[in-house]
Amino acid sequence: MALHDEASLAAAVAAFDEGRLVAIPTETVYGLAAPVDRPELVERIFQLKGRPPGNPLIVHVASREQARACVSEWPDLAEELASHFWPGPLTLVLPKSAWIADRISAGQPTVALRMPDHSLTLAFIRALGRPIVAPSANLFTRLSPTTAADVVATFPNDQVLVLDGGACQVGIESTIVAIDGPARTLWWLRPGRIGRAALRALLPPGWRLAEAKERPGGELGSPGRMQAHYRPDKPLRVHVVTDPEQAGRLRCRLDQDPRTFRMELPGHPEAAARCLYASLRRAELGDNECIDLIVPQAWLAAPVWEGVINRLRKAASEWREPVR
Ligand code: AMP
Ligand code: MG
Repeated sequence: MALHDEASLAAAVAAFDEGRLVAIPTETVYGLAAPVDRPELVERIFQLKGRPPGNPLIVHVASREQARACVSEWPDLAEELASHFWPGPLTLVLPKSAWIADRISAGQPTVALRMPDHSLTLAFIRALGRPIVAPSANLFTRLSPTTAADVVATFPNDQVLVLDGGACQVGIESTIVAIDGPARTLWWLRPGRIGRAALRALLPPGWRLAEAKERPGGELGSPGRMQAHYRPDKPLRVHVVTDPEQAGRLRCRLDQDPRTFRMELPGHPEAAARCLYASLRRAELGDNECIDLIVPQAWLAAPVWEGVINRLRKAASEWREPVR
């Protein structure tokens, strides 16, 4: 579909009136969307994905004004982060407005907000005239979709209209932080393309970035933090290696084993994120029984690899650290 094809946008808006959901391209992964103010369609998202009700949805906006209308507080730091990173892969969690349904926030007093960096989806939200809620357009716990074809293969056409905006450029879900004004803390909920250092650089004096699990009074509910998630339908074994010789020996051994598919990732974190889910999808096809991936140990502690390593830890059924 052409990016500014008004007729296609109108058809996508009309799909909601027919009771269908709309799959939207974003720079992170494809989303399964419903208008923020249509409870019965929001409900369909949970049904179609098999998503448990405790999982809140991210609200996607096309302007900062729309974001402000969804929250009861919009602190200076929200304005600062939004003006710096939006449109882009950063989700901000803030105290919600009363009109945001409990179903969207999973009963929490907060709402997660993001402005996706994709012109087709921004045009769609503008054509609709209100924000949309959109989790990733996959079945619960399974691989996230990074192309329109991935979504078409998962959901029936009579239930979901897919806007094709090409392959996702970031490839992994957004970074999520919660802005806690009273505690002067930015709680780190999910790693993504935007790393900790970039966020710390924008914190006002007296503020800190901290792990969500350290929050007094309990961790913020954020199911993106679940242990098993983003799983291919075959066992994925991740082998951490300390040096290229060890990697070479292991590669030879795995390549002689017909039961496995040895998957590879590029050595650059942004390139690896971009092709991560597509590579896992390719690896789960075929008649192999399992998938093996070799990962250099240096990636584990490197901040630029945090998002990819986080997804791999959740996707892996086995995680083998080097024997000393
Ligand atoms: P996804 O399914 O990839 O769209 O991810 C949505 C994730 O956003 C959820 O699983 C949560 O981790 C996070 N999230 C959404 N809303 C909230 C909220 N109000 N508070 C904390 N985390 C949230
Ligand atoms: Mg998801």
